[in-house]
Amino acid sequence: MLTFSCRLVHTYSFCLICLSRSMASKTPVGFIGLGNMGSPMAKNLLKNGYPIIATDLFPESCKELQDIGAQVVDSPGEVAERADRIITMLPSTPNVLEVYTGPNGILKKVKKGTLLIDSSTIDPAVSKEMAVAAEKMGAVFMDAPVTGGVGAASLAKLSFMVGGVEEEYQAAQELLTCMGANVVYCGQVGTGQAAKICNNMLLAIGMIGTAETMNLGIRLGLDPKLLTKILNMSSGRCWSSDTYNPVPGVMEGVPSANNYQGGFGTTLMAKDLGLAQNTATNTKTPIPLGSLAHQIFRVMCSRGYANKDFSSVFQFLREEEGQ
Ligand code: NAD
Repeated sequence: MLTFSCRLVHTYSFCLICLSRSMASKTPVGFIGLGNMGSPMAKNLLKNGYPIIATDLFPESCKELQDIGAQVVDSPGEVAERADRIITMLPSTPNVLEVYTGPNGILKKVKKGTLLIDSSTIDPAVSKEMAVAAEKMGAVFMDAPVTGGVGAASLAKLSFMVGGVEEEYQAAQELLTCMGANVVYCGQVGTGQAAKICNNMLLAIGMIGTAETMNLGIRLGLDPKLLTKILNMSSGRCWSSDTYNPVPGVMEGVPSANNYQGGFGTTLMAKDLGLAQNTATNTKTPIPLGSLAHQIFRVMCSRGYANKDFSSVFQFLREEEGQ
């Protein structure tokens, strides 16, 4: 009987009848920012039985989620009026400032005791500012940026790095485990962002290193698949060589196999390296390779690579040589 009902309504990967039944016992969660990452993340909360109240700057981004049961409202302030747990997944620092402190922002309408979780990758100093502003309104702000791309977001396999008041961590964890495989408490507010920025700086450096190594090997007459095999059994091995190889034809199912479409955009990587640069300047920390990586990805953005996956640095290096 249940199976029959499910087949009737199964236009998505889960059952609307079962969903509405489990939703009855859970209070709504607000979700703001339904882009590449936010949309699959909000869907996973719905799948776990949390009613969703959502908004995005572009109404068309909300359509798919609305069709599977989310309530869509017009502004972050309206989300805050209706939900006492809110997740934000926005592109960068200015968007977070607008959504939290703007004229129709969350903090204009937030209810006392609301838990605010920001999963965008932004400046840790702004996370701290938001925590202070939220506290003035009787709410709690935590930063919980993610690693893992759109695929991991769809499969609820993200890793969350969480910063904020430790007593609130458990409440955040309850929601984050619906969207991720790993949830790690990092310390006070802003430390989640710190961990994320450090990871992405190393990722950028590793990707450039892999791309230039592969290019040199190819020029020296080595077959790229053979060189990859040797690197991956040797000390040069890294995530960019063994999981996300930037050379077309070496691996399947990665952006380099699909003209660098999908994946993690060069613009977003340049943004994250800008955050690393700011934090390094503020803490007087030398990051020579991080700074150089920032420049390389910025130049790529101005040369037509902005919307390609960041592994297109391999193609960029080839073109720089006039090949
Ligand atoms: P995206 O640009 O696809 O989505 C962001 C969404 O926020 C958009 O739909 C946009 O309309 C909405 N938005 C912007 N300003 C708004 C406002 N004022 N009010 C309401 N909605 C607003 O970005 P994304 O790829 O989903 O990334 C989100 C964050 O996650 C970024 O900080 C990014 O660095 C980080 N991240 C992305 C990936 C990835 O692979 N894409 C991986 C890890 C982390």
